[in-house]
Amino acid sequence: MTNSQSLPEGSETGSLSAISLLSACYSVVMPALKDITGQRFGRLLVLDFAGMQPRKNGNGGPLAFWECVCDCGIRIKTRASNLLSGRSTSCGCARRELAAIANRTHGMSTSAEYFAFHHAKNRCENPNNEKWEYYGGRGIKFCFESFAQWYAELGAKPLPELTVDRKNNNGNYEPGNVHWASRSEQAFNRRPARV
Ligand SMILES: [Zn+2]
Repeated sequence: MTNSQSLPEGSETGSLSAISLLSACYSVVMPALKDITGQRFGRLLVLDFAGMQPRKNGNGGPLAFWECVCDCGIRIKTRASNLLSGRSTSCGCARRELAAIANRTHGMSTSAEYFAFHHAKNRCENPNNEKWEYYGGRGIKFCFESFAQWYAELGAKPLPELTVDRKNNNGNYEPGNVHWASRSEQAFNRRPARV
């Protein structure tokens, strides 16, 4: 085995000899264990070899685990394959941050964007809405499944005076048919078509 030979002098040797030994033991059933100590994968810096563990499903040889420290300070043990394939790029904090962003979007319940979402949906789905006859009452459907989808389509309201308009006034509230528009643009859209 040549794993230890490619490492810089002065590296800690305890785990390296363990790698060499394990590589020798498992070389029959698995490819040689590559030392990834010191390598960075996204937010994860590999600190040390963390031993072999049998696969959960019992098929194939045991898997090599590596101790990593995340940029956020949390230490995790993960499989080399997860690191090399790009599946593990943080301790999980990156995913938690994305979820927090999604929550923040979802938490826009007092925003102008959510106000527009809520009222458009209500006009289409609530027969008691005062504008129902122009919307749900004449077959206009609200096709956005979530505020997140609505927000992804329309984005932030660019100017306070704009409201959500349907490009085709007889079309539904659906992706491709909505945009932020001024009252005058909307009035223009609503002019009866002249034949
Ligand atoms: Zn982290």
